[in-house]
Amino acid sequence: MTYLRIKIKVKGLVQGVGFRPFVFNLARSLDLKGFVKNTSEGVVIEIEGKHVRVFLQRLRSEKPELSDVESIDVESIVKEKTSEYGRDGFSILDSEDTGSITPVSPDTSVCNDCLSELLNPLDRRYLYPFINCTNCGPRYSITRAIPYDRPNTTMSCFNMCHDCNREYQDPEDRRFHAQADACSLCGPQLGFQSINPLFKEDEGEEPISSAIRVLKAGGIVAVKGLGGFHIACDAENKDAVTLLRERKQRINKPFAMMAPDMDTVRGFCYVTDEEAQLMLSRRRPIVLLKKRPDCRLPEEVAPKNRYLGFMLPYTPLHHLLFFYPGGGVTPNFRCLVMTSGNLSEEPIIHENEAAVEGLAGIADAFLLHNRDIFMRVDDSVIRSNVFIRRSRGYVPEAIAIKGTGPEVLGVGADLKNTFTLTDKGFLCNTESAYR
Ligand SMILES: [Zn+2]
Ligand SMILES: [Zn+2]
Repeated sequence: MTYLRIKIKVKGLVQGVGFRPFVFNLARSLDLKGFVKNTSEGVVIEIEGKHVRVFLQRLRSEKPELSDVESIDVESIVKEKTSEYGRDGFSILDSEDTGSITPVSPDTSVCNDCLSELLNPLDRRYLYPFINCTNCGPRYSITRAIPYDRPNTTMSCFNMCHDCNREYQDPEDRRFHAQADACSLCGPQLGFQSINPLFKEDEGEEPISSAIRVLKAGGIVAVKGLGGFHIACDAENKDAVTLLRERKQRINKPFAMMAPDMDTVRGFCYVTDEEAQLMLSRRRPIVLLKKRPDCRLPEEVAPKNRYLGFMLPYTPLHHLLFFYPGGGVTPNFRCLVMTSGNLSEEPIIHENEAAVEGLAGIADAFLLHNRDIFMRVDDSVIRSNVFIRRSRGYVPEAIAIKGTGPEVLGVGADLKNTFTLTDKGFLCNTESAYR
């Protein structure tokens, strides 16, 4: 006797975005049997049961927010009744490498659920700077190989503790199969290093407090972020900004800035609804905004410029720089310069040792961590809906183009290494490929 079983192949941006947990929960709620797994071609699902049709409808209509489905192929397969398949309900199988390519998700800003845990004294991840879940956090910058599974990321060296592992295994949990799941017991840690005797290290002090102390005193701190280093200083401190400009040997080039929230940005610049939406999106680009005539920031942040480049905090660490330790109403800073940690006209630095060596002439101190950045990604920059730099939050997402045309590779101009590759109706474009 034979019976029907459906095989579904989902292609597109479907890995590292909570797709498997979504499928798992949906299948279980409909009492379907089968499995889901990541393959390098996309997500493959096999199901059998009464409600297959409902499953297919809801697969299309309820897919996870971060996913971007390109195609869903469905085929019927016939199996012998004696098959072992599906006997034990629905499960997530190990990933399988089938040799073709499936996209990795871009890095995504910390979600509101994680943010409220970060600032909740009763949560076990209270003030933990690497909090993330299936809906947010690092992706592309930590991925060494596809498919996106923990052993293929720079999180592979951290062994999950009992509690993290329980969340990772629990289909009801927001961190079910969240590959970068971590906590202060088992995950990455911050470190602080000062190279200026004026700003001594204090052994009993938390690294984040040390960094805030140096910034408040007008010092310059290199902060290891998601896709590389930022050089930070208090943007309201004219002396600090001038010093940074001298040390970075940048005469006029505007510095990117980060403010704790949208209201603060509005105090410095005019912001349209569209610009606000972009800044608040999970991609969190730098948006060039028209400066208000009464803007109180020193001219040195962007000399002779009518526009200022602003972004909002996008990692838990950024939020802590503004709100540590209280998480309260008054931020530590109204505005920080957050310029790329690169030497003049070189790519952003992404390794601890290279940063301490290369940025020693610029930074007084370093706020470091031990989660390796595999692929560097600089902040994306947008002005009036036009990309000036398409990188963090956007790459490696492909752009659909009309028609299929020939495969074309463009490698950018002399001073800008912007790689663009077209293939099968898609265009991949990144500035982060200059490794
Ligand atoms: Zn989250
Ligand atoms: Zn843990």
